Amino acid sequence: MKLKNYKACVCNLCGTGCGQFLKTDGKKVFGVAPLIAHPVSKGKLCIRGWHSNELLSTNERITQPMIREHGQLRAASYEEAIALVTKRMQQFNGAAGEIGILASARSSNEDGYTLARLAHEVFNTRIQGIGAEAGHRKSMASLEHAFGYPGAHGTLTSIDQADYILVVGTDITRQNPIIGGNIHAARRRGARVVTLSSSRTQIAKLSTKHFQQKPGTKGLLVNALAKALLAIRTVNHDRRANIDLMAGYAEYVAALRSISSVALERASGIRYEEIEEEAKHLEQAKSIVILFSSGISGLDRPTIDAITNLALLTDRMDHENSAVIPVAGISNLQGSFDMGISGELGNSVFKALAEPDSTIKALFVIDHDDGIIRDKDRIAQLDFVVYSCAYKSAFMDLADVIFPLPAYNETDGTYTASDKRVQITHKNVENPNGVLPGWALFQMIAEQYGASWGYQDAAGVFTDIAEHVAGYAELNHDRLSKGFGLHWDPKAFASSRKRKFNAINIEYWESPTTPEFPFALMIGKAQHYWHQNNLMRKTIVPRREYDQTLWLYPQGYIEISPDDAAHLKVRDKWLVNVCSSTGTCMKIAVKVCPDVQDGTAYIPYFIKNMISDFLLPYENAYAAGEESVVPIKIQEA
Ligand code: SF4
Repeated sequence: MKLKNYKACVCNLCGTGCGQFLKTDGKKVFGVAPLIAHPVSKGKLCIRGWHSNELLSTNERITQPMIREHGQLRAASYEEAIALVTKRMQQFNGAAGEIGILASARSSNEDGYTLARLAHEVFNTRIQGIGAEAGHRKSMASLEHAFGYPGAHGTLTSIDQADYILVVGTDITRQNPIIGGNIHAARRRGARVVTLSSSRTQIAKLSTKHFQQKPGTKGLLVNALAKALLAIRTVNHDRRANIDLMAGYAEYVAALRSISSVALERASGIRYEEIEEEAKHLEQAKSIVILFSSGISGLDRPTIDAITNLALLTDRMDHENSAVIPVAGISNLQGSFDMGISGELGNSVFKALAEPDSTIKALFVIDHDDGIIRDKDRIAQLDFVVYSCAYKSAFMDLADVIFPLPAYNETDGTYTASDKRVQITHKNVENPNGVLPGWALFQMIAEQYGASWGYQDAAGVFTDIAEHVAGYAELNHDRLSKGFGLHWDPKAFASSRKRKFNAINIEYWESPTTPEFPFALMIGKAQHYWHQNNLMRKTIVPRREYDQTLWLYPQGYIEISPDDAAHLKVRDKWLVNVCSSTGTCMKIAVKVCPDVQDGTAYIPYFIKNMISDFLLPYENAYAAGEESVVPIKIQEA
């Protein structure tokens, strides 16, 4: 393979943003290779990244526009499909809540920005969402309050130099494996790595110290660590100068001082003396990185507030190697917020779909994972549904008009990683069917309404982004094409130097388990099940790994501790009935796992219909993400 056939690009399969080479002659794709000089991935890719090229050779592509006629989809030209979309969408009143937008956090910034324009300026609707934003919206709100801008503080490369790394919750080795690898390398060079997690996750095993707290008490534990740190600070007046001038400090300190060590231990299972010991290490660190999961399986707001407050209290956040990073599972989750297609308005589309009496009549959908089609029956009843995606999915069955989109590397586009690093992937391979990029499609629809955006290419869209999106002003495609991207600039936010503590309440979490439903079920990620598998199912090797798991556990699995398995008289791979306190049940195999605490259980999100049939009926469990705890009973099937 000639050197010129190695095209630098960005992996689009999680919010780490690893650097890759796509091996291609411009027509055929031969594979990928890691980009050794990339500052975050440094010559590494996880299994998903190594096989991301397989997404370019799958046959499960949407290759041309389609229109549903007499119940059947038929091929159509762009002109015909766009004319139909324009005619039908003009029959709905966006301002009256009749049009919803279901966007994608995998779309490029250029596609997200133009979709937001189409929604707001053309369809005149603010009913929108991306489906994964619930957790990230909380992260953004907490970070914006604390640091003055809605984004990560610091960068992922800080992991390589930091003295102290705190991982709250997430099994980062599953969710963002390359970040997990970097943390492991940091530990080996001498950094102190501390994990707060109720399960003995892989990253917990690789850490210097693992606090295995009871479910639902991460925030309490972080606040207790802050209290212990504060006690050390109280006798060190030199280190108090900055922080006690910040808004909210007095209230924060009062709340911390109210923490009872007895109640803390009862709720979390962790002794305060252990936390006091940890605070001494934290106090000695000159640079501190805190990482937590954000997005579909993110933390709840009180826990994130505890994290951002602790970060401020350390008074180390101005060090060049300090950071607080909400780590996203989806590649452009941060970008979708920056472009205005998610954020505060996010989720309003799900609200509209969930309410039987809402005014919504039409839905415009981009690249949605069929594994989490919520409110399917309601969508089927809508008057008009448009679906755009590179890949076939179950959403096609619900659509009246379908548009194809290019896959990654088939068009120019930028993506904003978890730490605000904006990176570009160029068009490195032809789309054999001449599919229009998303921004061009949205512009053509807008033109039917008389709009004149005047974009000639993705670079032109980005010029507009730089003009209108805070933090992006200094960026353009040319600059991003040299090197490995650039972080957007927090100083664009006037409030970026005004740090403030978030208000907190000290609550001693009471387990929702009961004698009838004695297990606390937690939900999270599995490495080979990703993005609800719409993408992974289109690959070969990651799909094989997933299929292997299903071969061993065809109905999926629930992890329980060896003692609980013995108590229930069940063995590995035996089927059990798992029922929640709201009455939802599923039949699933037992996986006996010593990493799970007694009285708790863990299910990865990969079980068919788990989210739609099992989890959603349980109050807010889906929105609460990693912090959700569902009381269940487990009985032999
Ligand atoms: S960690 Fe994420 S960005 Fe990196 S190779 Fe894996 S999926 Fe791609």
